[in-house]
Amino acid sequence: MTETRKKKVAVLGSTGTIGENTLALVKAFPDKYEVVCLAAHSSGDKLIAQAKEFRPKFVSVGAKAYPQVREALPECEVSTGNDALEAGLAAADVVVVGIVGFAALDPTLRAVRLGKTIALANKESLVVSGRLIRREAAKHGARLLPVDSEHNALFQILEGTKPNEVDTLVLTASGGPLLRRPELPLDDVTPAIAVAHPNWKMGPKISVDSATLMNKGLELIEANVLFDVPNDKLEVWIHPQSIIHGAVVLTDGSILAHMSRPDMKLSIGYAMAYPERLKLPVPRLSLKDLSKLEFLEPDVKRFPCLRLAREALLAGTSSLIALNAANEIAVNAFLDGKIGFPRIPSLIESCLAKSWQVREDSLDDMISLDDQVRQSCRELF
Ligand code: MG
Repeated sequence: MTETRKKKVAVLGSTGTIGENTLALVKAFPDKYEVVCLAAHSSGDKLIAQAKEFRPKFVSVGAKAYPQVREALPECEVSTGNDALEAGLAAADVVVVGIVGFAALDPTLRAVRLGKTIALANKESLVVSGRLIRREAAKHGARLLPVDSEHNALFQILEGTKPNEVDTLVLTASGGPLLRRPELPLDDVTPAIAVAHPNWKMGPKISVDSATLMNKGLELIEANVLFDVPNDKLEVWIHPQSIIHGAVVLTDGSILAHMSRPDMKLSIGYAMAYPERLKLPVPRLSLKDLSKLEFLEPDVKRFPCLRLAREALLAGTSSLIALNAANEIAVNAFLDGKIGFPRIPSLIESCLAKSWQVREDSLDDMISLDDQVRQSCRELF
């Protein structure tokens, strides 16, 4: 690529936190990036405002908001549905996937099969079909660059190491909003308490996942898929300051860690610019910020989701799909006030106890199993 050619960016989930941060970076580097495609599920007004500012050729939106968005953007090719999204994906150099949940799987696979560079913030797609995505990426020459901060950290460190020198990968977790509140009965945890994350600004689903520690469970599985490291070589430490995002223990005993202030622009910017680095507009870390770093063992008795995720990882693909589907349903039910906080892990555990089967090379099979688990989980409320 010559220096004058701008990278063309498709932003899936453009109205969410990842999407907004991505667009802020495009705005900060107008000579390096242009937006060719914006996709969002339901936030029509916000999507329209983004399209007017960034002028993409392609805009994709969920069926409900489609008439409103098409009407407002006569200068764009506005479509709905994943089939029509392909034209926007095909026009991009980098596809940023900031969609939440299982819904990201289909568009991510399409971008993979188009051989794109994918800045992947969505973890659920890797959790449910990591093997399929990796195999298809190898087949079609697609490159997966993790945007999840811990995996982005590990990716950066691993670029400088040889696979046979790696002993253990370390993922850190802030511990979420409940870490400093051991006196609070989990029955009293409201959605407002659960989404008030101390260090990161994120959407409601991932914030609740942080509070239950399921976020780290999903990330453990994500790390297993991305870096081919088994469950017993993946450590999780609670690190409330969120300064060290990931670390790699090498065979000679050295530990290489990645540090920064918590800001998603760092990992998004890294993936967008890869293999270059940008002068990012983010707060800088100083060594004096390292004077009070803490590391604690996760409390898996109070927060069983991390244990459930490890069990699902060992059990295989159908359990991983069940884990993710039950979690999405349970978290939404909690956010809607239908179930209490402690029901989230117990519902997931009940769903995992059933026997599920799936052919892991079939996307249709995976979608159908995901549906069955969701249905069965709803029947347990
Ligand atoms: Mg993360």
